[in-house]
Amino acid sequence: MMIYKNIEYCFNKGESKDVNVRGWVHRLRKQKDNIFLTLRDSTGIIQCILPFTEEYNKVTIESSVEISGNLIKDERSPSGYEIHANNMNIVGLAENYPIRKDFSVAYLNTVRHLWNRSRKMQSIMKVKSEAMSAAGEWFKENNWYQTTPPIINNSACEGGSTLFELDFFGNKAYLSQSAQLYLETLIFSLEKVWSSTTSFRAEKSKTPRHLAEYTHLEGEQAWANFEDILKVEEELLTHIVQRVVQNNHKDLEFLKQDVGYLSRIKTPFDRITYEEAISFLNKKGFDMKFGDDFGTEEERQLTSNLDNPLFLISAPVEAKPFYTKINPDDERMVLSADILAPRGFGEISTGGQREDDIESLTRRIKKEGLNPKEYDWYMDLRKYGSVPHSGFGFGLERIVRWICNLDHIRDTTPNPRSVSKSYP
Ligand code: ATP
Ligand code: MG
Repeated sequence: MMIYKNIEYCFNKGESKDVNVRGWVHRLRKQKDNIFLTLRDSTGIIQCILPFTEEYNKVTIESSVEISGNLIKDERSPSGYEIHANNMNIVGLAENYPIRKDFSVAYLNTVRHLWNRSRKMQSIMKVKSEAMSAAGEWFKENNWYQTTPPIINNSACEGGSTLFELDFFGNKAYLSQSAQLYLETLIFSLEKVWSSTTSFRAEKSKTPRHLAEYTHLEGEQAWANFEDILKVEEELLTHIVQRVVQNNHKDLEFLKQDVGYLSRIKTPFDRITYEEAISFLNKKGFDMKFGDDFGTEEERQLTSNLDNPLFLISAPVEAKPFYTKINPDDERMVLSADILAPRGFGEISTGGQREDDIESLTRRIKKEGLNPKEYDWYMDLRKYGSVPHSGFGFGLERIVRWICNLDHIRDTTPNPRSVSKSYP
């Protein structure tokens, strides 16, 4: 039986109970007459008290054990309950565990395969799991189809500088930076499509929000204009946050996140235009001019005092990839928008309307230094029954970093990959 189910039972019935539990030794304190042990399983922790015996005395931190005993209420124990154990079977005796209290972040990164057992990582991974199923749930309820775009491609989606190249049966190929172009092919059949795939970006600098591989939650919709897609994005994100607040209360509290503010996230999100953002930042002492990109510091400033996500609307044509639609009312700008997470967490998605004009697409593909030949198939989408369409991509780990209030994106994933980091 799982620890938490047992506690729930006692709590509801107001009585003690004989239980059999199994898990891993999270904490351990040995005394003359008793052994105090905190047991951990996937649902939580509970303190167990065992009589001191030679056999039980062999147990070590992170050993796997089966324990039976009587679960009773005890105000002094951290969970409010404890098990007075009468038997323990050591299933896998652990060697001297290498993670202690005085660990450094650098060290923990070298023992990820073990650190993933920590309660911090356990809580984060639960939040991430909930966020993924909440996204799937929202798409399903709104009649979107989940699809499986390719990871190995001949062409770039987000520009050549962050491509990972590989040898594909003697030819050059690249790991996907985004599924978008392939999702666009599917709207002609399924109209509303989404995917959750791994995207790869050869990000050369180390930042607290970039990974070399991350989970990309992307959607593409036929017959949808710019406004339509912003609505999809804000509703989807709000649903994800609400589900996590509802089902991961304990995890958020353990991570010291302010659950109250997350529970108040609501649609519609406020908006700031690119040009308003430039002048806002200049008033704050930044030196920004039209055409500049927003870095981490700029994005932090824009939302540091906000509790709800913010749409950063439109961008200069040169700042965005070739497929973004040029605004017919202002040819300097594209119909693209980023969602910035509140409290300074920065960009978590980019979305917008797609360019339908073949001439504009070809010109911008060349300007980005890409080979138009490789996009022939993409141009076909504009030749055979093109429709206005829009889409978006969320970085799942960026969402999790924000929801879990984490300093660094590395903790949003069990085995983070970044420059010079691919072990363990
Ligand atoms: P940034 O400007 O923050 O580097 P981007 O604008 O290059 O991101 P997009 O091409 O818009 O990224 O990708 C869509 C989304 O994917 C981003 O909004 C972000 O949430 C996520 N994302 C992009 N690059 C990374 C990365 N290296 N690690 C984690 N998430 C990422
Ligand atoms: Mg972006």
